[in-house]
Amino acid sequence: MQRAAPQEFDRVLSSMCTRPHPAARKAAERFFATNPGDPATYQAVAALEEDALSYLGDITGLPAPHGYVTSGGTEANIQAIRAARNHARDDDPNVVAPESIHFSFQKAADVLDVELRVVPVDDDYRANVAAVREAVDDHTVLVAGVAGTTEFGRVDPIPELTAVAHDAGALMHVDAAWGGFVLPFTDHEWSFAHAPVDSMTIDPHKYGQAVVPAGGLLFRDKSVVDSLAVDTPYLESASQASLTGTRSGAGVASAAAAMRELWPDGYRDAYERQQANADWLYDELRARGYDAVEPELPLVAASVPDEQFDSLRDLGWRISRTASGELRIVCMPHVSRESLRSFLSDLDNLRSGPARN
Ligand SMILES: *Cc1c(COP(=O)(O)O)cnc(C)c1O
Repeated sequence: MQRAAPQEFDRVLSSMCTRPHPAARKAAERFFATNPGDPATYQAVAALEEDALSYLGDITGLPAPHGYVTSGGTEANIQAIRAARNHARDDDPNVVAPESIHFSFQKAADVLDVELRVVPVDDDYRANVAAVREAVDDHTVLVAGVAGTTEFGRVDPIPELTAVAHDAGALMHVDAAWGGFVLPFTDHEWSFAHAPVDSMTIDPHKYGQAVVPAGGLLFRDKSVVDSLAVDTPYLESASQASLTGTRSGAGVASAAAAMRELWPDGYRDAYERQQANADWLYDELRARGYDAVEPELPLVAASVPDEQFDSLRDLGWRISRTASGELRIVCMPHVSRESLRSFLSDLDNLRSGPARN
């Protein structure tokens, strides 16, 4: 019987996952039989989680952050809303977010029984601050902005949204699940250092090059994260703030290892290489007459006819679309210029039609 093999990354162009850094892979293998859900028993991995948090604090401009390494951006976003809801003790809570928010917010609103108010974005796919201001009220417990949207790689006006949130007596959450490891090398205002943001999602298992599962959730104030804690009889540790119980020490150890290896120079190199790839791909697509969205971060969206899109998938390219139908190419660390050239050459062959081949 043949052994199953994981996919190669060569033709993966729309995923936000990537090849883990070798040091992250090695750390994951060493720590996979540990459980940071019970830090008093699994003390070595608990110490690595402290390291990981401290790196995440450096990256996001927050000295001494509170929080933990989650199973991913979904858990982090659910927990950010849960913390805001518990902290506010409101009997009819709502969360206000732009329509560009990740679909994990729909799950969060559903499991937490919180109303999600989604407001329009502007012409450049960023949160519309006036629309957010219009939507908040006395029952708003959280305003969320995205720093690096999943579909177009846009960064919401975080300082302005934070002011709206705090004026309404709500907390401010930034979802930098994907963008958090590239934004430090840009001029965007997105971090704890740029505004009095209360919480943030940032995923080591995306641009951080850790193995899956490794997400990150950070809080500025201890009292907010404390509102997540439940007592844990029959563990060595007395309480737990995570949503999952037993969780992977592999993700935690790999996140710490990846950041030790790559922050800041390795991440800067990856960002610069991939931003150049995205800018190049954008120019090439435009030169061929495609409507494309200018890449602010290493992510290109372009309108490609269904037939060409489907044929590219049939050729083995792993690509997906935005909700409004654009092809999206996420320039993750594994994406090479050579692979993008080969993608464009397949596209050119499709455009010229089989007759000319
Ligand atoms: C990927 C992503 C998420 C979800 O993260 P998972 O790790 O897939 O659970 C949330 N928000 C944003 C902006 C993302 O890009």
